[in-house]
Amino acid sequence: MASQGHVHLRLSQHPHDRLHARRNDEEWLSRQWAAEDSLAVVIAGNRVRPVDGRIEWLPTSQAPAGQRLLLGERDGRTWFAVRVQPRPEDGWVPLRGVLPALAADDTGQAPLLFHALGLAEWLHVTRFCPRCGGPLSPRAEGHELVCSDGHVQFPRTDPAVIMLITDGEPGSSSERCLLGRQRVWPVGRFSTLAGFCEPGESLEDAVRREVAEEAGVVVGEVTYFGNQPWPLPASLMLGFFGRALATDVVVDEDELEEARWLTRAELRTEAETGSLVLPGGASISRSLIEEWYGGPLPGSW
Ligand SMILES: [Zn+2]
Repeated sequence: MASQGHVHLRLSQHPHDRLHARRNDEEWLSRQWAAEDSLAVVIAGNRVRPVDGRIEWLPTSQAPAGQRLLLGERDGRTWFAVRVQPRPEDGWVPLRGVLPALAADDTGQAPLLFHALGLAEWLHVTRFCPRCGGPLSPRAEGHELVCSDGHVQFPRTDPAVIMLITDGEPGSSSERCLLGRQRVWPVGRFSTLAGFCEPGESLEDAVRREVAEEAGVVVGEVTYFGNQPWPLPASLMLGFFGRALATDVVVDEDELEEARWLTRAELRTEAETGSLVLPGGASISRSLIEEWYGGPLPGSW
């Protein structure tokens, strides 16, 4: 179980009430939209425009015209998003561009923003009914799309597994963890392995399959660690630890350039010298590594 010290958990710390039952209550929606203390974030395509590195929430009376999305209620006020057409001007950034600010933020912006961006991304890319090819219309404040034949589409969340595989006596100085690096990454950057869950597959089997495919390592016992919504564009990252049964590494060169086994001491030394650089604090990958290591490690992407 993930300890509260992990940064990725801070991103989920202040969930809002999603008010599912209000999404078709036009009278209530109009009243809340007109309320003085209601706030909205503006999203163009799947981008936001930070002000001084922070997400700007406008009083709804100042929000531009666009498609209104109800996010929900928190701190005694109602939160919305407004989708506007993608804009060519400078200053609009994808979610990744505001992650450092979100990770440092202690007012709990992340769940609202993840909700807004996940919905906006889904609405942006879902143009036609996947059953009949007909055009789709939004309803339920952007949480459903429906075609003229009545086929309803719901926002997607794709489960992805992310895992730290270990080998050796747990807690001993010889215990090792497996980290990999993709060819396209800057030199020295390493992370946990990860991949999408396939249809009909359990999460544990997805962990075993992905590790076997990417690194050739055979995994036995798999235990759940925690999860992180990651609407980039539509993932839910499900974190696991896995125990290796066989440790020979054979990397799939389409996926990875290198995968390495590291003891805690090696991890520490390489992180200190910078020959190995770990993912940023906002990611569950970092949390998995530090949970196994037993504390914070230096350096990040
Ligand atoms: Zn249809």
